[in-house]
Amino acid sequence: MNAPNPDRATPTPAPARAPLMPLDEALERLLAQAVANLGVESVSTFDADGRVLAQDVVAQMTVPPLDNSAMDGYAVRSADCQAAGAVLPVSQRIAAGQVGQPLAPGTAARIFTGAPVPAGADAVVMQEDTEALAGRTQVRIRIAPAVGLSIRRAGEDVAHGAVVLAKGERLTPASTGLAAGIGLDRLSVSRRPRVAMFSTGDELVTPGTVAPEAMPLGAIYNSNRYFLRALLQRLGCEVTDLGIVPDSLDATVDALRGAAAEHDVILTSGGVSVGEEDHVKPAVTRLGALDLWQIAIKPGKPFAYGHVRRADGGAAHFIGLPGNPVSSFVTFLLLVRPFVLALQGAAKLDVPAIALRADFALPKADKRREFLRVRRNAQGGLELFANQSSGVLTSMHWADGVVDHPAGATIAAGDTVRFIPLAELMA
Ligand code: AMP
Ligand code: MG
Repeated sequence: MNAPNPDRATPTPAPARAPLMPLDEALERLLAQAVANLGVESVSTFDADGRVLAQDVVAQMTVPPLDNSAMDGYAVRSADCQAAGAVLPVSQRIAAGQVGQPLAPGTAARIFTGAPVPAGADAVVMQEDTEALAGRTQVRIRIAPAVGLSIRRAGEDVAHGAVVLAKGERLTPASTGLAAGIGLDRLSVSRRPRVAMFSTGDELVTPGTVAPEAMPLGAIYNSNRYFLRALLQRLGCEVTDLGIVPDSLDATVDALRGAAAEHDVILTSGGVSVGEEDHVKPAVTRLGALDLWQIAIKPGKPFAYGHVRRADGGAAHFIGLPGNPVSSFVTFLLLVRPFVLALQGAAKLDVPAIALRADFALPKADKRREFLRVRRNAQGGLELFANQSSGVLTSMHWADGVVDHPAGATIAAGDTVRFIPLAELMA
């Protein structure tokens, strides 16, 4: 009863906690390491969607090449049609792909969408505003067309010599279409980053290997592996999935050494907090160097950046994400996304926030900057997912965005908050 409790009798001081690092500082430090030196490759314009352009694309032609008709109708000299209901003889017929003769004064040319407007014509009257007469040899023009009506001007889309796509652009369907429109069947893009990923944790089970009803007590399925691979692939990475690495130092060292040999980046989830089961830090330290950061964000916080040396003298980047699924997901979007884009030389790394109205309250402030899982409602406001725990992946699935909420602040319904759409963050 009176025996001294050793824990109470000799209180050991709590280990000094390193101050939390602001997210902006973490991002700055990380991007300082993301040198875009993967090299350049030429790919078919067909397959270039999502890739990062390695050099400016300059138009060697004008689009459209000639003034052409925006409508099916009649090309005229507007001065010939100023009297209502002017009747003109039809002097020629010009289909798309043909080039007509100069338009004789006092006549009209039957013309079709995309066909070059003949010299002398200064307007096209769409056929709905005309009436064909005398077996289509004449046409009545029912309106008085202004100069330039329904004519697409040469070069109104692309001027010769214009930089149509800029180095560092991540190509979209619109960019590949535009490149094809100036005759380019190949584009120079950054090589894809090769990323090896693995998960750590003896509690993890790969779906498909054990049925839910047969799961041992304490086991959970590895969900991080699935979303991390998908996110990396969306960002243009070639991913090697090394599965689950057991919670042992030797296994972790072996996995890292093998991964570094053939990859630009090693991405892990779990095992970067300070628990004694966490072998990532000693393993990376043995093969290179590792910084453990405690980032002042919620969800998130533990994050590791370092490198793993290769036999050839080079090194692979090492990034360790937290194990909690939502922390892992959000930290990826905030830090790994810009990192792998920067490796490819992408010019735009951030997704700007939009000011939107909160249709919820957050009465309790947090010491850390929060990324709240929210969804837009039909009234243009935002709803908050009820459970913001970093283990609840349902919040990520339900949400269509996150609110970037500053530390130490509360939210009242009606306040304007900073919304970042997930669709853009995951693209
Ligand atoms: P750790 O960062 O390893 O301490 O893990 C933190 C929490 O995240 C623990 O509850 C783990 O079970 C969980 N966790 C770690 N890795 C994964 C994963 N790959 N999939 C799902 N949950 C995980
Ligand atoms: Mg773990």
